Amino acid sequence: MQEQLRKSDTLSVVGELAAGIAHEIRNPMTALKGFIQLLENSIGHEHEMYFNVITSEFQRIESIITDFLVLAKPQAIQYQETNLIKIMKDTVELLNAQAVMHNVQYREHYQEGLPCIIAEPNQLKQVFINIIKNAIEVMTQGGFISIAINETDNGMIHIEIQDEGSGISKDKIKKLGEPFYTTKERGTGLGLMVSFNIIKEHKGTVEVESQVGRGTTFHIYLPKI
Ligand code: ADP
Ligand code: MG
Repeated sequence: MQEQLRKSDTLSVVGELAAGIAHEIRNPMTALKGFIQLLENSIGHEHEMYFNVITSEFQRIESIITDFLVLAKPQAIQYQETNLIKIMKDTVELLNAQAVMHNVQYREHYQEGLPCIIAEPNQLKQVFINIIKNAIEVMTQGGFISIAINETDNGMIHIEIQDEGSGISKDKIKKLGEPFYTTKERGTGLGLMVSFNIIKEHKGTVEVESQVGRGTTFHIYLPKI
């Protein structure tokens, strides 16, 4: 228990530091991007291949920074009465275009009269986005993502996100949340690390259940305060 607590403290310090750096990198990146654009306009045709690589590598840096910056903006973090169902519905809406493109449909079940909880709504939204995005990305054949939010018998809020994707083998489940662990060609391997950190900050827990070839279920348990 003590050990766990210390580990999470260290993680949040590292997270803050990384977020600070990410923030600092963003400004020079914007300047660079402008000049690369100018160069491309003047000499682009001759060296189109180089510019394609530059653009795609730039996008990769941007995704990494965006994932990290979720941990930044400390002034924007405000714990408040939060309606999880509303956040989840917003998230599903936000990712709808991507779901449609992957032939993915949703099954949603929300407990009636679910109490609000004290939480940071933007951060929890980011967690839902990261997990559902992963679910959509692994469902290459389409199918259903099932989402449920219920109160458990011992007064926790249980959020369940189940996909019908490739699944994850037992030894790989342990790697989830490790910084830069990714199996995707253009992945950052930061989405789950950021998400697990946010849930920890909320004094919650995450459990992952998976069967290779069948799919994966993420269980998030959050206290009400
Ligand atoms: P990224 O999506 O950029 O790879 P994440 O931290 O979001 O980074 O996820 C890390 C890795 O965990 C993914 O590359 C993938 O291998 C695995 N993963 C996450 N969610 C799922 C899922 N729902 N089904 C199968 N694998 C998953
Ligand atoms: Mg991801």
